[in-house]
Amino acid sequence: MPVEGIDVPDFSMDEKKHFSELKEKSPVNAVKKLMEKMGVNQRDAKYIVTHINVKYGQCNRCRFNTLDREYIKCPNCGALNFNWTINQNPSENS
Ligand SMILES: [Zn+2]
Repeated sequence: MPVEGIDVPDFSMDEKKHFSELKEKSPVNAVKKLMEKMGVNQRDAKYIVTHINVKYGQCNRCRFNTLDREYIKCPNCGALNFNWTINQNPSENS
C-alpha cells in the first residue's frame, strides 16, 4: 500500500500492536525491526515509525484529536498519521 511514496507493508493487527508498543519504548528499535521483519528499507522504516500515532485519533504533530481513519492526513496541520486502531482504551474514563 503506497502512502506518500512510501511502500507501507500490509501490517497485521498483531504487527500494528507490536510496532506501536515498540515505538513507545524505543523508536530506534522499531526502525530496526521493521527492516528485519518486514523487509522495509531504512528510509521508509524511519518514515513509518515517525508517523505511527502513539494515541489513537490524535495527530502526532498537533493536538487535533478526532482522526477517524488509519492512514490519514491531519485536517488541521497536514501531517500524515498512521492512525492504527489498536490503542483504544475504552476503560479510560477517569
Ligand atoms: Zn495535526
